[in-house]
Amino acid sequence: MSVSVKTYQLVESEPHPLVAQALNADLWERCRIENPVPVHFVPLPRWGGTCLDIKDTKEGEIQIADDLLSNLKREEGRANSLMLVYLHEFSHRLTPGHDHDAAFFAVNTLLLLRAGCNNYGRPLIHTMDLYDLHEWEDTPNCQIGEALHEMEGVENEKT
Ligand SMILES: [Zn+2]
Repeated sequence: MSVSVKTYQLVESEPHPLVAQALNADLWERCRIENPVPVHFVPLPRWGGTCLDIKDTKEGEIQIADDLLSNLKREEGRANSLMLVYLHEFSHRLTPGHDHDAAFFAVNTLLLLRAGCNNYGRPLIHTMDLYDLHEWEDTPNCQIGEALHEMEGVENEKT
């Protein structure tokens, strides 16, 4: 009896149309990202993405669940998710040695503020929640981002 092992091998490809729509020059310019890191789309079972220690990467790439490219969800929604997951994992890349702590939160907040609105015209910052501050699924979906945005608005009115 011969049992073969399933294997998968990543190969470089032209960006998926959704990637071209979500992760493009316009986003890099808005976020002021000069060197966007590559993405490996992999079959992650649960997470939207992951950012390995840089020494475990080939060129600083991040991983994003290939589920985000599936046709099951609406295209606009998937593009927004791609943007959010990319900026989340990129924030990890920029804050090595940090988890979901204040430093990470600050960088992620900055990038989301720079990115502006999603494809529905809603500020991306509104999607930040307690997960981004080291809490996990057992916390209620507290809209920290929305609160931050409100505060920013109040600050702007003062100046
Ligand atoms: Zn994270």
